[in-house]
Amino acid sequence: MSLFKLRRNPLSLDDLTVDLCPPSRRDDLSSECLMPSVERPQHIFVRGQGSWLWDSEDRAYLDFNQGGAANSLGHSPSVLVKAIAAQAQALINPGNRLHHRGQLNLAERLCQSTGSDQAYLLNSGSEACEAAIKLARKWGQLHRGGAYRIITASHARHGRSFAAMSASDGVNLENRFDPLLPGFSHVPFNDLPALHAAVDARTVAIMLEPIQGEAGVIPATEHYLKGVERLCRELGILLILDEVQTGIGRCATLLAEQFYGVRADIITLGKGLGGGVPLAALLARGKACCFELGELGGTHHGNALMTAAGIAVLDTVLENGFLEHVRDSGHYLREGLARLAHRYGQGELRGQGLLWGLTLADDSADAVVKSALYEGLLLNAPQADCLRFTPALTVSKANIDEMLLRLARAFSRVRTAQLHCRNGVAV
Ligand SMILES: *Cc1c(COP(=O)(O)O)cnc(C)c1O
Repeated sequence: MSLFKLRRNPLSLDDLTVDLCPPSRRDDLSSECLMPSVERPQHIFVRGQGSWLWDSEDRAYLDFNQGGAANSLGHSPSVLVKAIAAQAQALINPGNRLHHRGQLNLAERLCQSTGSDQAYLLNSGSEACEAAIKLARKWGQLHRGGAYRIITASHARHGRSFAAMSASDGVNLENRFDPLLPGFSHVPFNDLPALHAAVDARTVAIMLEPIQGEAGVIPATEHYLKGVERLCRELGILLILDEVQTGIGRCATLLAEQFYGVRADIITLGKGLGGGVPLAALLARGKACCFELGELGGTHHGNALMTAAGIAVLDTVLENGFLEHVRDSGHYLREGLARLAHRYGQGELRGQGLLWGLTLADDSADAVVKSALYEGLLLNAPQADCLRFTPALTVSKANIDEMLLRLARAFSRVRTAQLHCRNGVAV
């Protein structure tokens, strides 16, 4: 951390040069054998605690990305470490053809706490969305004359499996590996008439994120989501809410649908549910509970180690005062970001609870993320002009204050670099 103190203002040209060149990897490990997937900085991260991560050089980073909102309780929280260690000691994997306590427990708790009738446990958000699509098609086979079409929203992001990609809007994907699965159409988000117009006899469900994450943290309006719910009831089709990012306390309610005051037929969960381990869930209510024996399966679905983690996370999030803390911290983060955005002439803040997006005055989000990394702050840019903040739900006000300081320095650094570029100074 002392490194960052030394690096405070005033900015020199040297700082900017360093800023624009990725730091060299000082570890002897190479990524040559690793298939390319996402762009990563050169650093190697070795340990984490709460809102902090440390790299192999022992530099500390404040993590306001948290594995893309997966680490709901921060890095290596003791409640998760203990639960996983105890489960590993007792039984790692009885196999998915045998019952174990964790799976039964977590399914029951998820149903009780969300008012659902059935739950199924899987490994990733994409898989949960995939299963939700299958469930809707099954319901269409049984109750809507084989209807199978699913309407989703423009800029939606439901994952990377073929069905999830087909449900998503492909504009931001490098390659969709066409042909995609048939049976999906996309309509503009927050546009009820467009949605209504898109429904036909072959439509079986509408599938939406309550707050579109990858699109740049764009919340549905209450009017829209309530209208969608009403439309689904009137037309006799299913409402699927993808709460992979918004669920499990992220929006200061257990599910985002609660603060909207709507009730979906099918819900997908992922990310925060496992607190950092691969765990996802499919929830169904009432008439949507129509899977039969043999229609679902997966080697690690309901894996004992992962369900132990899920129970620890869910118990923690449901503890007295936890969601209030998320709400308070969310307000504090929002106010701090609004002040900073005003000071630096940035754009709009959107979000809920501890999921926030800040639009920037220009397409500098990648530059800000890189500068923030240099300042010891981990952030994410879902769009070229948007920063996303998904801290641990346990984040403290001190963490938020420190984040704001580092973000201010990152903004200054980018602004100075922009001025130098405009004035023709090579940096
Ligand atoms: C991340 C995400 C997914 C995909 O989850 P994976 O675990 O990456 O497969 C699906 N839907 C939403 C809303 C997400 O944010």
